[in-house]
Amino acid sequence: MNSKNDLFLTSDDNSKRSYIEIMEATIRAIAASLSDDQAYAGMPPYDLRSALHTDELLPEKGRGFAAVLEEMTQKILPNMVRPASTNYMAHLHCAALVESIAAELVIATFNQSMDSWDQAPAATEIEVEVIRNLCKLYGYGEDSDGVFTSGGSQSNLSGLLLARDWFCNEKLGYDIKKHGLPENFRKFRLYCSEVSHFSMEKSAHLMGMGYETVVKVPVNDAMQMDVGALEKLIEKDIAEGNLPFCIAATVGTTDFGSIDPLEKLRELCDRYGMWLHADAAYGSAVVLSEKYAHRVSGLAKCDSITVDFHKMFFLPVSCSASLIRDKRHFDALTIHADYLNREEDEEDGYINLVNKSMQTTRRFDALKVWVSFRMRGKEGWSELVTRCIDNAGYFYDKLNASPDAEVVTEPEISSVVFRVLPPEQSTEDADTMNKRIRRELLHHHGVVIGQTVCRGKVCLKFTLLNPLQSHEKLDELFALILSLR
Ligand SMILES: *Cc1c(COP(=O)(O)O)cnc(C)c1O
Repeated sequence: MNSKNDLFLTSDDNSKRSYIEIMEATIRAIAASLSDDQAYAGMPPYDLRSALHTDELLPEKGRGFAAVLEEMTQKILPNMVRPASTNYMAHLHCAALVESIAAELVIATFNQSMDSWDQAPAATEIEVEVIRNLCKLYGYGEDSDGVFTSGGSQSNLSGLLLARDWFCNEKLGYDIKKHGLPENFRKFRLYCSEVSHFSMEKSAHLMGMGYETVVKVPVNDAMQMDVGALEKLIEKDIAEGNLPFCIAATVGTTDFGSIDPLEKLRELCDRYGMWLHADAAYGSAVVLSEKYAHRVSGLAKCDSITVDFHKMFFLPVSCSASLIRDKRHFDALTIHADYLNREEDEEDGYINLVNKSMQTTRRFDALKVWVSFRMRGKEGWSELVTRCIDNAGYFYDKLNASPDAEVVTEPEISSVVFRVLPPEQSTEDADTMNKRIRRELLHHHGVVIGQTVCRGKVCLKFTLLNPLQSHEKLDELFALILSLR
């Protein structure tokens, strides 16, 4: 198969045959590789590294697709983690819904690029429609807008950048887009909780302001931003001549799934003239659960929202969106080029989405949302998300009732952070033991769970992002963990 037929999919019959053959062979190899329920049955790091070492990435003579597929089947597929396994719960990393994998095939096959209308006509219009519906879903009004991004980190950067530029324009009368950072940029302050995602600091660095701009606010016992402490920090900053410009709330913290009190944060933002950003990379999916949607209703009050579809929406990496309550702020990311997004295009009805995006060439990820929203509907989606949250509640109750475990806080979404205690006769300290148990689960039991540190103590974490997870299975996993003490 080394002819012009295996280059691209065209209308030529031989080309179509070749395309179908390659896709079918790949699908069969993938399906055949899933032999058991283990979340990881592959090699440990050093062995895997030597097994995959190659100086022949580009051999003299091409080996043909069949041989490469065989090699991939032998070496790579067995060493993949399996996010669809109910033994997998380490991270905010989900399995991909099957229909979204079909959407990925369409995305890759047609290879549209979202920067300009003439590279993605239908794709542009679908993204616009998906965004419009998402804005409505989160309670935004007519003036809102959004754009798909590569992930929560980029959505956060985008939201925070618009926040800062708004502050400079509106409050300081300074055009940062044109002139760069103002002289007093070291006084800018961004508030987020001490358990917020590290993309806050990264964004501050990327925006040229540095980590010192970021004020980490203490959390309460429920791991939510402590509003009283925040207020004091803001007052102190103002007294010292600093410039509070934004509160970045976390709606579903990475470790605990805790949700910052959005209504109260909105009040503070209004009082002090700040932007309210919501990092809802995790919690954004809760809106789909009829039973739990009220927990994230405050999102409607935020100026920008980070939505991640490759977490609790079960769509393939990457898929995320940045939503803005007032679309005028996207102006910060707009720059016109004669070769791409001419100003007259817009007047004639051609939408060039690059005008809202930090990326130029960009994937048609909105199709995955379109396909799976329409396929499953409100009912189907509510059931999936609700089940994950209910599972976390079940596991929390179980841990709480056990004398052998300590649990950090009651989950608001679907993550449970806990640690198991050494049995009486044990001489191992609890930190060492919990770390050892996680490694043993990974390499000897095909179970992949999370680990973090909470208030100085090593903890284990179940991130329950799999609607196939069951109470019985959770019971079994807890029994297994206790047996490894
Ligand atoms: C995962 C996560 C992010 C980062 O999102 P990516 O899609 O991994 O870039 C940001 N914030 C929170 C709270 C997250 O959990």
